Amino acid sequence: MRIFEQLESEVRGYVRSFPAIFDTAKGSFLYDDQGNKYIDFFAGAGTLNYGHNNPAFNRALIEYLERDGIVHGLDKATVAKKNFLQKFYDTILAPRNLEYKVQFTGPTGTNAVETALKLARMVKRRSTVISFTNGYHGLTMGSLAVTGNNFYRDEFFGVRSNTAFMPYDGYFGKDVNTIDYLRRFLTDGSSGVDLPAAFIVETVQGEGGVNVASDEWLQGLEALSRELDILLIIDDIQVGNGRTGTFFSFERAGIKPDMVTLSKSVGGGLPLALLLMRPDLDQWKPGEHTGTFRGNNLAFVAATEALAYWENDDLSEAVRYKGAIMKEELDRIAAKFPDLESEVRGVGMVWGLELPRTGFAGELSKECFENGMVIETAGADDQVLKFLPALTIEEETLREGFGIIEKAIDTLLT
Ligand code: PMP
Repeated sequence: MRIFEQLESEVRGYVRSFPAIFDTAKGSFLYDDQGNKYIDFFAGAGTLNYGHNNPAFNRALIEYLERDGIVHGLDKATVAKKNFLQKFYDTILAPRNLEYKVQFTGPTGTNAVETALKLARMVKRRSTVISFTNGYHGLTMGSLAVTGNNFYRDEFFGVRSNTAFMPYDGYFGKDVNTIDYLRRFLTDGSSGVDLPAAFIVETVQGEGGVNVASDEWLQGLEALSRELDILLIIDDIQVGNGRTGTFFSFERAGIKPDMVTLSKSVGGGLPLALLLMRPDLDQWKPGEHTGTFRGNNLAFVAATEALAYWENDDLSEAVRYKGAIMKEELDRIAAKFPDLESEVRGVGMVWGLELPRTGFAGELSKECFENGMVIETAGADDQVLKFLPALTIEEETLREGFGIIEKAIDTLLT
């Protein structure tokens, strides 16, 4: 580890949580350079929904490289991009009756968020955006402005000056309808809250600690955005791509956002970030928002292969089945250790175990790592253990993972 400590910035994070030098990976397993094996319950923070080194993706990538397929093409038209767009239309947009244009925004999630925020302000000619408590949208200046966690502070940057944070669903407990608050703030002239260009929101807050917005809340937000002419941006970077059981996480609520950000698993593990926008919002002039790595052709190849999972309902079915196992295992663990006063929450295959005892979730993640499992914490105080395995994980491995967690809790409590 010495070279990392000597040369890599102090900002390094995961290398501290998981102190090993990883070398290879397959499906839901990681291997370090000492030959140790780890079950992966983190899946690249939601980037590896289809598993590490998915054989179909790798085959397509090898074939593409062997025929000297273009890798870097700026935003030029390429065969790989054409194939991706066609398949995205055929398997995702058309069957869902969704009309969106696609903007290739860069390699990583925050690039899509920046693009959405910029476009929303430009189209609506309003400077404010409304975000929600505990939301996470990235850490560059624009996306940081709408990220609601003081750990990523704004003391020096000043970027939050054009963001208003409003309470997410459940922020004041289950009985308070925060959409009513929001409507009041936006329609009452005395609130001091400007009419925003957009709402930006996750349907399930991943980094925020697996907080699940109800269908009714999401429908209420959509209705309010229509009523007040505010754009609704759903950030589906972490919980899109099938994580909640449908390709887009907002499908469960039957809503149609004006814009959607996608990244992480959309590239099948390779860097890709997209903004989907209602066609009439595509008011960019050519070249107005562009850059060098806005469409990596290797990512298009992997992304096109990934879409094959959406040609039928098998993956959704698998997510329902394995999601039910996750809930059952977590409920069992929560019941077995009542002193922890833990809370289980989630949907599809994104689950959280809230552990109010200070520092316990972090210790548990560490103990799991010692026992061959990679799992991360989330939430403002890192108080939630977050379960984000590949959607393709085998049932046996999934159950084995919960066995490690149970044993780790036992060890820490005795
Ligand atoms: N939005 C959400 C919902 C995310 O979970 C993340 C990453 N965890 C981002 C945006 C930012 O993506 P990236 O880290 O790739 O910039």
